[in-house]
Amino acid sequence: MSLITKIMDFMFEKVGIPEFEKIIEIEDALIEEDGVLGFSPKSATRFDIPIEASKRKGVNLFVTPRILPHILSSAKNLRKSFKDLKLNPTNPKIEISSTDLEELKKIAETEGICEIGFTKVPHELIFQKKSIIYDNAIVLVMKMDNQLINTAPSKKAIKNIWYTYDYLGRATMKIAKFLRQRGYSSQASHPLGGLVLYPRLAEKAGLGSFGKAGLLITPVNGSTVRLAAVFTSVQNLPITDGNEHSWIGEFCKTCLKCIKECPPQAILKEPIKHDTGRVTHIDNNKCFPYFAENYGCTICIKVCPFNANSYEKIKVAFEKRK
Ligand code: SF4
Ligand code: SF4
Repeated sequence: MSLITKIMDFMFEKVGIPEFEKIIEIEDALIEEDGVLGFSPKSATRFDIPIEASKRKGVNLFVTPRILPHILSSAKNLRKSFKDLKLNPTNPKIEISSTDLEELKKIAETEGICEIGFTKVPHELIFQKKSIIYDNAIVLVMKMDNQLINTAPSKKAIKNIWYTYDYLGRATMKIAKFLRQRGYSSQASHPLGGLVLYPRLAEKAGLGSFGKAGLLITPVNGSTVRLAAVFTSVQNLPITDGNEHSWIGEFCKTCLKCIKECPPQAILKEPIKHDTGRVTHIDNNKCFPYFAENYGCTICIKVCPFNANSYEKIKVAFEKRK
């Protein structure tokens, strides 16, 4: 282990972990507030990667000092997203004007958001112990860098993942701030961790569909993306529920590349459907040790055909084959 890695590990243990534990406390305390929407008995428990990583040896998820500012920036914005709730107007507007909505979309584009969806949040998509202030959701998609992800598992790939968490987090904060300035209430839900199960929320918003590896495959960049959301008082969002991407499930049955290439064989051939409605695609006991010791792995994203080819091209070829 290099000296730099040792220093990074030390800093993460002494500074990073206490910070993430504090943030989890702040998140969990929101449920005590009046009028918030809480989780349901069917809700999933969030898997907190930094906390779980701290329990293991040989982890290399925080590898270079260059990542540090992005981890710190994400932690700062996570805290701020809760502090900023106090800035929400007392009597927020509930109908957004078309001008404000267009401006919101422009801000999102400028901040690097490549796709937006709008939907309602069902309680069962809120993680156990977490809560949100409104069930009107703006779901945000940001691309990761395909070339860097193609080097996975690598330092370059894990750096790109941390950068994307940070930049998407900043974009989420800006959109929440814009809404507040225009008289609407808002809550930024940072991509790191998150208060809700983002892939399922994004699927509900029509932004993609699940592949075998349990990741959301989007038309904009396959599963080489990160997701976040803003919850708001706005009730007339142009809801985009309804999914035209369900053919991806059929395509996956003819592909299975991620299953074959996953080093610890963690991706289930047949996903498990639970009584709660949740679906398990991955054996986390096999995935996480490999993930934590190999720069966040990401091989299942790298090898997916949607990472290298356009969605439309794959769809047309698949339809012809059928
Ligand atoms: S991240 Fe790696 S170990 Fe985990 S499921 Fe994907 S390919 Fe397998
Ligand atoms: S690699 Fe193939 S099977 Fe796996 S998610 Fe992508 S398309 Fe589906």
